[in-house]
Amino acid sequence: MMNVPLLDLVAQYRVLRPEIEKAVHDVLESQQCVLGPAVDRLEREMADDFGVPHAIGVASGSDALLLALMALDVQSGDEVITTPYTFFATASAIARVGAKAVFVDIDPATYNIDPAQIAQAITPRTRAIIPVHLFGQCADMEAILPIVDGKFHVIEDAAQAIGATHHGKVAGTMGIAGCFSFFPSKNLGGAGDGGMVITRDAVLADRIRLLRVHGSRGNYEHQEVGINSRLDSIQAAILSVKRTYLAEWSRRRTENAAVYDTALASIAVTPVIAPHNQSIYNQYVLRVPRRDALVAHLKSAGIGCAVYYPLPLHLQPCFKSWGYRAGDFPHAERAAKETIALPIFPELSTLQRQMVIDQIHQFYKEG
Ligand SMILES: *Cc1c(COP(=O)(O)O)cnc(C)c1O
Repeated sequence: MMNVPLLDLVAQYRVLRPEIEKAVHDVLESQQCVLGPAVDRLEREMADDFGVPHAIGVASGSDALLLALMALDVQSGDEVITTPYTFFATASAIARVGAKAVFVDIDPATYNIDPAQIAQAITPRTRAIIPVHLFGQCADMEAILPIVDGKFHVIEDAAQAIGATHHGKVAGTMGIAGCFSFFPSKNLGGAGDGGMVITRDAVLADRIRLLRVHGSRGNYEHQEVGINSRLDSIQAAILSVKRTYLAEWSRRRTENAAVYDTALASIAVTPVIAPHNQSIYNQYVLRVPRRDALVAHLKSAGIGCAVYYPLPLHLQPCFKSWGYRAGDFPHAERAAKETIALPIFPELSTLQRQMVIDQIHQFYKEG
């Protein structure tokens, strides 16, 4: 029995069904299902939304990161600085191109990479940094960019932060490339996988366009070895519909967050949004005592919740060869043990929201 799901995509679909069905129908009638007009259109719309000249639709957010690294020639022997407290794909893209992730611990308040610890991670092999805008809030780019000082590439993992701003700048537009995901659980999600890279750099954009189609401009002649990673045309058509709702959805998430903040501040550490940040609250993440017991309590009460992320990336078995150990990044390790994500989706009803609040209060009163 689920009284409040963590995310209710059915509620969203019910509202959009006529528009989405028409968009899908149009693609099917045209049978231009790979790239073509629907992808061109979404790429134009997103480029306009972001105020950048280039937006390239790709198969997933994971591939957006991989293609950005490939197109910037990051390769074996290179190092890429990033956070250990993020979704797996941030680091797996680095591993995929044969480079090493050099992790830097997080700021325990925002859960984003701590700029004060970046300088000591830079070596002659550093080729890029991937700041992740976690849970919908931008990393401290204002501090990060002067440390990088143009010496290596800045690739933003904005998969969770579409529309978030930092000192008035939009997530994904502050580095050489901004990577987005249209996975259904993101603020702008398709009906399946999808992703996008945005950039102001025409040469980079052209290279990513080439790499996403096996390194070929056509006629079975291949300039280089790319991959097959195109944004699906049906996904693009659906996303063109959904993007018109994005600002309103993020506004409603922010409203839910404000209610939770007030109701829960006395018993948990509510999200800390830095003064010059506007979060889009892809996740609403609390730091709480007795986290695992709270998760069990909420589950038994039919309230969806999740732990993002239970095992920091430096401790993942597959990255053993990078040589990290428990204790290397204490703030990330502590966050992995103490945080919990609550339902924050735009369609969350007042009643559902209150049920979440009541159950959390009940748990700590009983405990
Ligand atoms: C979702 C996500 C990705 C990967 O996106 P997919 O579309 O699922 O491949 C990468 N980084 C972060 C931070 C994410 O949240």
